[in-house]
Amino acid sequence: MGRKLLLDKAHIEGIRYYKTYRDNGGYAAAEKVLKNMSPDQVVEEVKKSGLRGRGGAGFPTGLKWSFLAKPEGVPRYLVCNADESEPGTFKDRYLMEFIPHLLIEGLLISSFALGANTTYIYIRGEYAWIPDILEQAISEAKEAGWLGKNIQGTGFDLEIYVQRGAGAYICGEETALIESLEGKRGNPRIKPPFPAVKGLYQCPTVVNNVETLATVVPIINIGGEEYAKYGTGKSTGTKLISACGNINKPGVYEIEMNISVEEFIYSEEYCGGIPNGKRLKACIPGGSSVPIVPANLLLKTAKGEARMMTYESLSDGGFATGTMMGSGGFIVLDEDQCVVRHTMTLARFYHHESCGQCSPCREGTGWMEKVLKKIETGKGTLEDIDLLWDIQRRIEGNTICPLGDAAAWPVAAAIRHFRDEFEWHVTHPEEAQLRSFGLAHY
Ligand code: NAD
Ligand code: SF4
Repeated sequence: MGRKLLLDKAHIEGIRYYKTYRDNGGYAAAEKVLKNMSPDQVVEEVKKSGLRGRGGAGFPTGLKWSFLAKPEGVPRYLVCNADESEPGTFKDRYLMEFIPHLLIEGLLISSFALGANTTYIYIRGEYAWIPDILEQAISEAKEAGWLGKNIQGTGFDLEIYVQRGAGAYICGEETALIESLEGKRGNPRIKPPFPAVKGLYQCPTVVNNVETLATVVPIINIGGEEYAKYGTGKSTGTKLISACGNINKPGVYEIEMNISVEEFIYSEEYCGGIPNGKRLKACIPGGSSVPIVPANLLLKTAKGEARMMTYESLSDGGFATGTMMGSGGFIVLDEDQCVVRHTMTLARFYHHESCGQCSPCREGTGWMEKVLKKIETGKGTLEDIDLLWDIQRRIEGNTICPLGDAAAWPVAAAIRHFRDEFEWHVTHPEEAQLRSFGLAHY
């Protein structure tokens, strides 16, 4: 069994509630920090741990924290990004729903380290039942003296507020999230300035993902150096993966970042293989924004070595041949799945979610959706495939926020790796139409 740091106590009945959480070692890390450590020492431990942001970008957390500006007399904020909306990603939901105190404890320690007295959890609107769970955990923690004024007699004050989003994917982008938190339309801001300098209410702000902040608890418990011994290379520690698609055991798994992709897909401990003995066709290993990878590239590197579930191994070769760890939304496609249809579905999603601020994204996402629909339904031409390639190329790198890239990369990767399938839709229009109506398979 792989070692666990986040979900090790998830099976304990009643762990959602303060008493059980506390009886099982909860708030020991907070106690250690508040009694024996300075804010700088906490930042140092997080730096030593090598923790990278678990929302998708993998930016070093300790480094992000050290970028936080500290002008005299200006408040600082910590914002927990719980707007988990990336298709295929549902690991933060699991943490918040079943072990909410792990997040609250992580928020307390992180707020102390950053000198933030007001912290927000911005949660995806569709997670309608979770704010109540979080509110209950917050009120239990407050009653036990872990929140409010002069926490545990240290002089440190902290309030945590839960804010629901209204169902816009773009509000997971940190600056759009901040705009929304301020009561405005969730339009991404141009960076720089980064939130660490000008964030919420134009004050220095750290925005971190749920899993990132929860991970601060085991880091403090075992120490940054010990945490860094988990995993391999620059992928230290454990990572939550939400696995879905054509696998026998969909769900949320905590993996130590030293196992191979093959082990993750086929072992009984994790996904349990592909149903009905079907062949693996492709996978999107890090949520819909990262490129799709065909099976041959997914399981082995160009050198013939096993591809690992690490930041380095998954992004090996850059976007051209590799992909990314991203948010850990692991979507598996078996041999029966149509990549063209799949890509069209994603294009529709990004078109719908574009905020419309920049022309390449606003116009390009809709255009890609239209061309993909034409090809998928057997009405496309070979020139349409080239047109599609051209549109995605003009979006990438030319927009305010990463949604433009996220819309372009899946299209680029699908054409690059599965061009023959696009061509089949053009050269077999009648069969493509039947398949589009769900009346025929490969
Ligand atoms: P990013 O690389 O632009 O930024 C990463 C973080 O580092 C940000 O918080 C940014 O403010 C900070 N940062 C970077 N350079 C900095 C500097 N010089 N000074 C101060 N701070 C700095 O990426 P991003 O836009 O935060 O995230 C993109 C990723 O989000 C995508 O790759 C995708 O995988 C993921 N994503 C996740 C979800 C989800 O539901 N979990 C949804 C959509 C996208
Ligand atoms: Fe809005 Fe798209 Fe531009 Fe992002 S890339 S700011 S979502 S239009």
